[in-house]
Amino acid sequence: MSYVVSLVCSRCGRKYEPRQNPLLCERRDLGRLDINYNYDSIMEKLDRDEIERRPHLGVWRYAELMPADKRFAAQLNEGNTPLIRSKRLAELLGMKNLYLKDETRNPTASFKDRAMAVGAAKAAEMGKKDVVIASSGNAASSLAAYSAALGLRCCAFVPEDVARGKAAQLLLLGARVVRVKQTEEGRDPTVQMMLKTVKELGWYPSPSFGPFNPYQVEGPKTISYEVVEQLGWRSPDAILVPTGSGCLLTGVWRGIRDLNALGIVEETPKLFPVQPTGNQPLVRAINSGKRFEEIEPEKWPKSIASGLLDPFPWDGDAAMQATRSSGGAGVAVSDEEIINAVKLLASREGIFAEPSGAAGLAGLKKLLDEGKIYKTDTEVVLVTGSGLKEAEKATKLYGEPPLIEPRVEELTKALNI
Ligand SMILES: *Cc1c(COP(=O)(O)O)cnc(C)c1O
Ligand SMILES: [Zn+2]
Repeated sequence: MSYVVSLVCSRCGRKYEPRQNPLLCERRDLGRLDINYNYDSIMEKLDRDEIERRPHLGVWRYAELMPADKRFAAQLNEGNTPLIRSKRLAELLGMKNLYLKDETRNPTASFKDRAMAVGAAKAAEMGKKDVVIASSGNAASSLAAYSAALGLRCCAFVPEDVARGKAAQLLLLGARVVRVKQTEEGRDPTVQMMLKTVKELGWYPSPSFGPFNPYQVEGPKTISYEVVEQLGWRSPDAILVPTGSGCLLTGVWRGIRDLNALGIVEETPKLFPVQPTGNQPLVRAINSGKRFEEIEPEKWPKSIASGLLDPFPWDGDAAMQATRSSGGAGVAVSDEEIINAVKLLASREGIFAEPSGAAGLAGLKKLLDEGKIYKTDTEVVLVTGSGLKEAEKATKLYGEPPLIEPRVEELTKALNI
């Protein structure tokens, strides 16, 4: 049974019936089809006790709040990631209640598994065979993994300079991987290719942003459900969210909205999207009081954080509303600050994140320095992806380890001890 009552285009307001299984607005206006649920009925089934009783079945633990039928899902056990209470990092920052939501522990090592678990299940439910994605790597790997488990054919368009670990992971998972050259400023060529195959080959689009597939947007909501439960059914004061397209932030916000609507928790956290200074169209727009329609795409996005390089924030409308209505703000961080955050997470907490995955921590440091959040508050930093896929970036930071003959004198010389 589905609890979805309607889908409504975020741009033109056109309404769709759930049984139509729409993917894009008929008007092709780049609106996202926002999904509405029957909260009254869900409330009769789902409360704190019921959630606690349920086994961890990835996003399907919250099946009533998902827009696909769980019978079509692959069980790779996404989600249920630990909320780690920081000790040594919190101490360094002088904080009391700093938590790290470690999304590197997902099946393909990024939070994108939550989104693609739903996107792929919906494809199977709709009887699709070919699925397509535009991605810097993580979302594609997630879709490829769920496609492998469900027997779907997956084609992934990735940027020319895709990280080697990400390409390797994709190929192994059986995806057809194609790199696409950037030829026009401010346009993402991988998205252009994805749309061409949807139109001309009839493939099912499942990128990790809303305007081309509304279903996958619902997966990341489960991060908020988990965080609130892990804090003992309390909302944190703030959540820091590494941001590219704005879909993750939108999901986090919707998760809180769901919990509010179901009476499971009353407060809302402040939401802070974090973007790299080399690609910050959303942060710039939020902080200069602009409207979504006024967002200017970044012409040539550039940052070490490869997962945050969407030149245009596809879900910027919802992301802006989420940030503003929650009382948060946008934060931009330099590559240097991001690298520092990667090192801190690894050396102080034992978490190996990729640069995009550590951007939230860089943002937290900046907000603390600027006095915009408080050291005594409960802050949650989302650590969104693993560093193992971009190992070449880490290797560059440190160079080759010394090579010695197996003698202690050589060791003391090499380590300067
Ligand atoms: C995709 C991605 C993000 C950003 O998510 P959006 O939904 O595009 O804003 C952050 N971190 C990592 C590791 C990612 O792969
Ligand atoms: Zn529309």
